[in-house]
Amino acid sequence: MSKLYDVIIIGAGPAGLSAGLYAARAKMSALIIEKDRNGGQIVTTEEVANYPGGIKDETGPSLVARMVEQVEEFGAERVKATVLDVNLNEDIKVVKCEGAEYQAKAVIIATGASPRKMGCPGEKELTGKGVSYCATCDADFFTDFEVFAIGGGDTAVEEAMFLTKFARKVTLVHRRDELRAAKSIQEKAFKNEKIDFIWNSEIAEIKGDGMVESIVIKNRETGELTEHHAHEDDGTFGIFVFVGYIPQTSLFKDKIELDQTGYILTDVDMKTNVEGVFGAGDVRQKSLRQVVTAVADGAIAAVQAEKYIDNKFGH
Ligand code: NAP
Repeated sequence: MSKLYDVIIIGAGPAGLSAGLYAARAKMSALIIEKDRNGGQIVTTEEVANYPGGIKDETGPSLVARMVEQVEEFGAERVKATVLDVNLNEDIKVVKCEGAEYQAKAVIIATGASPRKMGCPGEKELTGKGVSYCATCDADFFTDFEVFAIGGGDTAVEEAMFLTKFARKVTLVHRRDELRAAKSIQEKAFKNEKIDFIWNSEIAEIKGDGMVESIVIKNRETGELTEHHAHEDDGTFGIFVFVGYIPQTSLFKDKIELDQTGYILTDVDMKTNVEGVFGAGDVRQKSLRQVVTAVADGAIAAVQAEKYIDNKFGH
């Protein structure tokens, strides 16, 4: 029989680590399961600029390293494993990994969401070197530079407008001849003199030696390829990709309530529709996906898990 934990946290990004910290500080036995590296999306950010109060000289990886250290100091256990299946319906929840099965009175799902990639050559290699998936995080680096925004949904158009506060020019590239974004958002963007539009086009390639230096744009109707080079005084420019997000919820489909796009539905206490199961961070339906909101979700989920366990099992 495997050990019974008070709470199992799936995912070790900021939400999961924060949940682990609050759970362990509340003297609950907590296990954090992470399939990949700790930290989630934040480890792809060099500078954590927009954290309240500022974290001087902090990088995404160093912030995560301190979060992990803190969680361990308070006694949360951690294991690197891929969760293959979950049984969440009984009072005792079961989380199955390859070669191991874990049990808990409550489960906090903090598996995150990943920005969808375009999949063109150069995108992966130049991520963090001019290619970004987060304007809030990285727009400041492109103050007075040129930037491209890719996509035609609400995120792409809103973020393109946000980018105009920093960049001297924003070019939005969309694969069709009309935007998917809400009309009200479109209208504002069309009025913004700093935004140019390239229609019916996709990114064929991103080139650069260490930093983005050029982008190859393919017209989907004519097949014509156009290469745009960085201005020689700049040497580089930004490419912000907003072609949707993919919540990491395939394990939970048909087990807990998700919205149409796959995000977990929770109430303000991070409770899902299944008793004893909580969602925290980017994986849940919410309006702002940032470290500050993720760590807040994790803290709330852990405190609510403790209350649930007290009521249900008498701690
Ligand atoms: P989205 O609505 O799924 O839009 C993704 C955009 O990327 C679409 O324009 C799509 O083109 C394009 N795209 C997808 N795959 C692509 C690829 N491989 N290459 C190039 N382009 C690609 O995603 P989102 O804009 O992130 O929004 C997600 C959800 O959040 C939506 O429900 C949205 O309404 C909501 N949201 C709301 C607000 C707001 O209300 N203020 C703000 C942000 C987000 P097509 O149009 O051709 O499919």
